[in-house]
Amino acid sequence: MAQTDTPTPRRPRAKRGEGQWALGYREPLNANEQSKKDDNPLNVRARIENIYAHRGFESIDPSDLRGRFRWWGLYTQRKAGIDGGKTATLEPEELDADRFMLRVRIDGGQLNLEQLRTVAEISTEFAQDTADLTDRQNVQYHWIDVRDVPTIWERLESVGLSTQEACGDCPRVILGSPVAGVSVDEIIDGRPAIDAIESRYIGDRAFSNLPRKFKSAISGHPGHDVVPQINDIAFIGAVHPEHGPGFDVWVGGGLSTNPMLAQRLGAWVPIDEVPEVWEGIVSIFRDYGYRRLRARARLKFLVADWGIEKFREVLQTEYLERELIDLDAPEVPTTPVDHVGVHQQNDGKFYVGVASAVGRISGTLLSKVADVVEAHGSQRVATTPMQKLVVLDVEEAQVESLVSALAELGLHARPSAWRQNTMACTGIEYCKLAIVETKQRGIDLVSELEQRVPDLDTPITININGCPNSCARIQTADIGLKGQLVLDENGDQVEGFQVHLGGALGLQAGFGRKIRAHKVTGAQLPDYVERLTRGYLEERDHDESFAQ
Ligand code: SF4
Repeated sequence: MAQTDTPTPRRPRAKRGEGQWALGYREPLNANEQSKKDDNPLNVRARIENIYAHRGFESIDPSDLRGRFRWWGLYTQRKAGIDGGKTATLEPEELDADRFMLRVRIDGGQLNLEQLRTVAEISTEFAQDTADLTDRQNVQYHWIDVRDVPTIWERLESVGLSTQEACGDCPRVILGSPVAGVSVDEIIDGRPAIDAIESRYIGDRAFSNLPRKFKSAISGHPGHDVVPQINDIAFIGAVHPEHGPGFDVWVGGGLSTNPMLAQRLGAWVPIDEVPEVWEGIVSIFRDYGYRRLRARARLKFLVADWGIEKFREVLQTEYLERELIDLDAPEVPTTPVDHVGVHQQNDGKFYVGVASAVGRISGTLLSKVADVVEAHGSQRVATTPMQKLVVLDVEEAQVESLVSALAELGLHARPSAWRQNTMACTGIEYCKLAIVETKQRGIDLVSELEQRVPDLDTPITININGCPNSCARIQTADIGLKGQLVLDENGDQVEGFQVHLGGALGLQAGFGRKIRAHKVTGAQLPDYVERLTRGYLEERDHDESFAQ
C-alpha cells in the first residue's frame, strides 16, 4: 500500500553558535578561548619577570608556555634534530626546546641607529647571533632563554622597542611604508596614524582578547608596499577629489587555509580619523568575530559572510555613529613595490633598499650595517614586508660608496632578480609546525639560480613555506612552495614541496593554482625552477608576466 502519511515537518536546525560575543556567546567554546578568559594573556609578563626568569624553563605553567607567552612575542622553539615526519605525530612538549623564538615588533619598520644597535647586541648576546627579518617588518630571534627575557625587554624598551602583542590573538605589528615621509610617490605620510594606534591601543586590554591574530597595515604610498590585499585591515594613501590626501580602507584579507583577498570598504578616511576607524574595525572583529573554530576565527570569514556593504553599515551605525565619505577605487599598482635599489627622496637625498637572501640576517651583520650606515651619514634604516632593509637619508655623494659597502656585507642594492624576489619562512630549523627546511634551502636555491639563469630579465617571485600555513605567503607567489613530505625516485619519503603556480598581488591579484602533479623533492628544486623558468622565457609573448 502506498504510504499516504504526511511526513512530519523537520524543525529547522538551530544554527550553532560561532562564539560571537555580540550575539551573546560569552562562554568559551574551546581551550584557547578558555585560557584567554581564565587570565588576560598580558598578565603573563609579571609571571615571567617574577617567577619564570628566576626558576627557569621547567617552572613555566603549560598554559602560559604554549598560550599566553605569545602576547609577549615568545613562542617555544622546535627541539633540534626532530625531522619533519614527526611534526604531526609528537605531542607539543616533545617538540619543545627549552628555548624560545622572540619577535620584536617594529611598527612601520622604522629604526634609528641606536635601536638597530640594540637589536644587534641582543642578538649576539642572547640569541646565538640570530636576527631574521620577517615579512612583517619584525626581527625574530631564536635560542632565547626565559632567564634573559626581562633584561632583553629592558634593553628594547629603553630605546622605544617592544615585544608586546608581537604574537597572540591581538593586534600584531602595524606594517608601514619603509619610505614614509621621504618617498616622492607618497600621497600622505602614514606614520602619525601608526604612532597613535600603537600608543593608544597596543597593550590596551580592550583588544588583548581577539578571536585570533589581527594584521594591520598603514601606508600613504600608493604602491601597495605593505601588501594591503592580504591584511585584516589596511589604510592605503588615496586622494579624494574634494577632500584631498587621505586613505582608502581595505578589510578582510588573509592567507593560510581559505585564502581571501581584502576588499575595499569604498570609503575615504583622513589621517586624523584613521585610529578611530581602526578601533571600530578591530572592535567588530572582537565582538562579531567567530571564536568557536580557530580555523574560522579571522576577520576574512566575517567579511565574506556579511558582504562588504553590511560590514561598512555595521561599522558606521554601531561603532562610528556616522557615515564615512565615499571613495571611488584608486588605481592599483601592477605589483607591490619593494623599494630595493637607489631612489631619490623628496628632500633631494636618497634611499637605498638592499636584499639579503630570504631575510637571513645576524646580529653581527646588523652591527656592521649600523657602522656602515653611520659612516655614510645616515641615521636610520627601515625593515620591509619583503624581508629587505632600506637605508634612508643618504647624500648623493655617499650613495655609491654605501652600495659597495653593503654589498660587501651581502646586502645588495642591485640584486639578481632571484635574490630580490625569493622569500622563505622560518622552517624546520626553529618552527614547531614545520615539515621541511626553508631558509638554507632558499639561500642555496638563490645561489644556484643566479649561476644557472643569470640573465633573468623579469621578476619571478618564489615563496618557500615549511608547512601548509602561509607565513611566507605562498599563494601569492609566481612559484609558491608548500613544504611537505614527498616521495623521491626510490619511493622514499623525503622533504619536498607541493607547488602552487601563478599567484600574484597588485593589479592581477589572485592565488596560485595547486598543480597536483608538481611535487618536488628538495634536491630537485633547482632543476624544477630552472625548467619552469626556461619554459616561460621561451614561450612568453613579449610582455607576458609569469603569472599570466
Ligand atoms: Fe612555521 Fe609553517 Fe609558518 Fe613556516 S609556514 S613559519 S613552517 S608555521
